[in-house]
Amino acid sequence: MECRVGCGACCIALSISSPIPGMPHGKAVGVRCVQLTPDNRCRLYGRPERPVVCVRLRPSEEMCGQTADEALAWLFELERITHPTATPPDPSPGEQNPEWLAI
Ligand code: SF4
Ligand code: SF4
Repeated sequence: MECRVGCGACCIALSISSPIPGMPHGKAVGVRCVQLTPDNRCRLYGRPERPVVCVRLRPSEEMCGQTADEALAWLFELERITHPTATPPDPSPGEQNPEWLAI
């Protein structure tokens, strides 16, 4: 499948340990990437500065679901399973908090 334009779920939910331009230490779970535009597009798309992890992450029906909320829920669960000490933001992804999802 193709990445859903304007979704941005993986650019918010996932932790990224490698540097991102503007975020030299990467980002934590639930932190909005500084390179994500207000309409949830990557400012670095197609540019060499885009982190390798972002280039390699491929959309899939399982991960991306039908909506950004479904993707956020799946991705937070993935982070919870793989990084048990990480604490996703509250409230749940379906109740989007503008502090971390400033669309
Ligand atoms: S969760 Fe899937 S559809 Fe949404 S931005 Fe990431 S890759 Fe694209
Ligand atoms: S660099 Fe682009 S693709 Fe990677 S997390 Fe940030 S906005 Fe998303």
